[in-house]
Amino acid sequence: MILLLILLPFIQSFTSLAEENKTPSLESFCYEELNKLPGKHKDDSLRAACKEVKVLEGCESEKGVRIYHFDKAAKEGVEGSRKVLVFSLVHGDEIPSGSVARAWMERLTTIEPRNSWRVVPILNPDGLAKKTRMNGNGVDINRNFPTEDWDNLALKYWNEKTKKDPRRFPGKSAASEKETVCAIKHIEDFNPDLILSIHTPYGVLDFDGPRIPPPRAFPKLPWKSLGNYPGSLGRYMWVDRSKPTLTVELHGNHVADKLEQFDKLQDITGDIVIQTEKILNEKKEEETSKKNSKK
Ligand SMILES: [Zn+2]
Repeated sequence: MILLLILLPFIQSFTSLAEENKTPSLESFCYEELNKLPGKHKDDSLRAACKEVKVLEGCESEKGVRIYHFDKAAKEGVEGSRKVLVFSLVHGDEIPSGSVARAWMERLTTIEPRNSWRVVPILNPDGLAKKTRMNGNGVDINRNFPTEDWDNLALKYWNEKTKKDPRRFPGKSAASEKETVCAIKHIEDFNPDLILSIHTPYGVLDFDGPRIPPPRAFPKLPWKSLGNYPGSLGRYMWVDRSKPTLTVELHGNHVADKLEQFDKLQDITGDIVIQTEKILNEKKEEETSKKNSKK
């Protein structure tokens, strides 16, 4: 017994050491996870990107997996640079979305961008591990955002319109899931001018924002509005907050062999923000002049 008491601190420190060794550093965790995703990538750039990743306080999945992000600030002195936040693998079975986010992270390590970027490449690590759309609790994160209509409509919509499709379960309450809370933390912390949410498989650019001319520089995916839903990110950002969200729906569910083609998409995001702001400002001016003419 006495021997055990003497040895206990050693046993404890040994087991905690073993625990520490079990959890890989954030850098190697990021590299291992992103390296697994299909498609060609630039190894040096990925290693460089993973050196920089961070985790916002409390950003972990329901199963306790770290949700990390990569930041790249706009080139110093660039006038009118905007902030773009990227979420991918919101749905864990849409693997190519992660490959595009990885390609963007890699590219950002090699360029001095006009805009500031934050990329959250794996928002739903539990879903990715199980290859399911939903998170570890069987909730569709893209129906769990606390939209103003959530309490009235989210479960009703799920019951009636989707006939209780388990792939679209919005959760028991708004923002009940840690992944959703993490996404909201990023929105508050980074305060983006535009969110890009990468998905598969519909092959369109689905814009939640004002009517703007479709960007011609990226004809690969047509510009279409698919609409938004109670609890979806697009409704949370655009309908409730007047912040535009571009859902990039990659075509099919196989990774594009030419990930470089998405460089173009990355480059036109600034224009999308500027076009959006122009229309929003025109609307504001119109409304003020209407109010003034009424006076
Ligand atoms: Zn999706």
